[in-house]
Amino acid sequence: MSADTDQDDRDLKAELASPTAGHVGIPVDAICVGCGRMRVKRATPAEMDQSPQVDPTTLEALDLTSFKHVCHLCRSATWWNPVAVLTGLLESERGEQK
Ligand SMILES: [Zn+2]
Repeated sequence: MSADTDQDDRDLKAELASPTAGHVGIPVDAICVGCGRMRVKRATPAEMDQSPQVDPTTLEALDLTSFKHVCHLCRSATWWNPVAVLTGLLESERGEQK
């Protein structure tokens, strides 16, 4: 990982809560192939070539395929490469729903 300078100011929870992250799917940290920006996005397992029944906490970013999502900097739907599965956010979200 060489992008740690950008990472320091990021609030992953706030990014996930933003409407631009999407509303359904697994929270992942992903890089836009258009502009190189890293953002938290939600993507469904199917979009990342995984079984719909998969347990997201067992997923590795390396197993996930790129998925299509809107990038607000590129102002269009672009491809995003998952770099990390945000299981911490996923678990805190599940906890809130109980
Ligand atoms: Zn972009």
